[in-house]
Amino acid sequence: MVLSPDDTVAAISTPIGEGGIGIVRVSGPLATAILTRVFRPADKQPASLESHRFRYGHVVDPETGSQVDEVLSVWMAAPRTYTRQDMVEIQCHGGIVPLQRTLELVLRCGARMAQPGEFTLRAFLNGRIDLAQAEAVLDIVRAKTDISLRVAVQQLRGGTSGRVRAVRTQLVQALAHLEAELDFPEDEIPPCDIAHALSDAIRRIEELLTQADQGLIYRQGVRTAIVGRPNVGKSSLLNALLRTDRAIVTPIPGTTRDTLEETINLRGIPLCLVDTAGIANSRDLIERLGVERSQQALQQADLILWVVDGSEPLKGEDHEIAAVVRNRAVIVVVNKTDLPPVADDAVALPSARHVHVSALTGSGISLLEEAIVETIFAGEVETPDVPAVSNPRHRDVLRRALGRLVSAQAGWHADAQPDLIAVDLTAAASDLGEITGESVGEDVLEAIFSSFCIGK
Ligand code: GDP
Repeated sequence: MVLSPDDTVAAISTPIGEGGIGIVRVSGPLATAILTRVFRPADKQPASLESHRFRYGHVVDPETGSQVDEVLSVWMAAPRTYTRQDMVEIQCHGGIVPLQRTLELVLRCGARMAQPGEFTLRAFLNGRIDLAQAEAVLDIVRAKTDISLRVAVQQLRGGTSGRVRAVRTQLVQALAHLEAELDFPEDEIPPCDIAHALSDAIRRIEELLTQADQGLIYRQGVRTAIVGRPNVGKSSLLNALLRTDRAIVTPIPGTTRDTLEETINLRGIPLCLVDTAGIANSRDLIERLGVERSQQALQQADLILWVVDGSEPLKGEDHEIAAVVRNRAVIVVVNKTDLPPVADDAVALPSARHVHVSALTGSGISLLEEAIVETIFAGEVETPDVPAVSNPRHRDVLRRALGRLVSAQAGWHADAQPDLIAVDLTAAASDLGEITGESVGEDVLEAIFSSFCIGK
């Protein structure tokens, strides 16, 4: 990964394909000179006449003078830019050729291709945003529901960083006090309530971790597998859940024998529904492949909707499935309640929650939705605030820091040596710095920014 932000980078920042417009973005010290070479404003004034203002004109090959595209360009002078460097954005017609040709000219004039996330990495390295804010940029791009978006936006505004930094500052102050006592034992050091600082920091981190459970659900969604033997109404149930007025976020069509995935927005929770082809044994090759995927989908699922046919007695296959899903987060969906009931569903999985529906008429579907939300939040009340933590990396760091603080607290109460307590405090403060990026290794940065798209 390139951590030197001193050269000039360029990329096509819009998705490749046909579109209304496409944008070539440039950042770095050569941005202005490159614009002057490749862009001819229609008003014949200098290309970098006024910062942050759209100009109409043409991209021109500086060697041949031939026009490549008719464009709008905007020149943005540092530091009031995304990367805090000089930046240029050229809005071409949204086709692959005009964009590629424009990018090639920009590269020929001295820029190099940007790596994934490199613009945002520069914004971080140049101190415009911290690491948690940089990560929020990707979360905004990938937000699946309105609440996922709200969670990401508050993180970009510094909501997460602010709360983490407050705890870190508290630890650093306590640490300074401990070290002063260690270094100058004969001096009068003003008293500092280390015990209170520790318990307060622990309480604040625990609060953040409690919210993180919900935050992660909003950010990542919940993988939900619909399982059951053939003909119990799995596909019909999927359709019934999709038929409501919620938007389908990512339709990934498969065949009926494969698995079919759809993400729906269930009260702000992105629910990735996987309809499985049935997990019964099969001799047919294609069906068997489908079955394998079903089992995989089942293993990966956070929540299982097990569909049984309420109009028939349970069969051998039902019992086989019951054995597989028994110890998972499972809701038994007793379907076909519009038909006369004969099933002994109560004995299927007595401990699991049962919801009676008719996928055909839609009755019971809203009760099922309610049961899904309650199961996902495991009976916890939804927090009225937007969760401050939604990223598994942040959650893991917070857990690690919490462990150190609990150990420091135990040490304090057991009258341990102050230097031992200082070791735990130092480590906890450094952990928290990994969230905001104050103390973070290049490997962590690499892992984070490599998941960005090129041009972001
Ligand atoms: P799958 O094989 O589990 O995906 O089941 P399908 O969704 O394909 O449904 C199998 C059959 O049951 C179809 O003929 C459906 O029309 C029917 N079916 C599904 N849900 C209901 C229901 O709630 N009531 C009734 N009466 N029939 C249903």
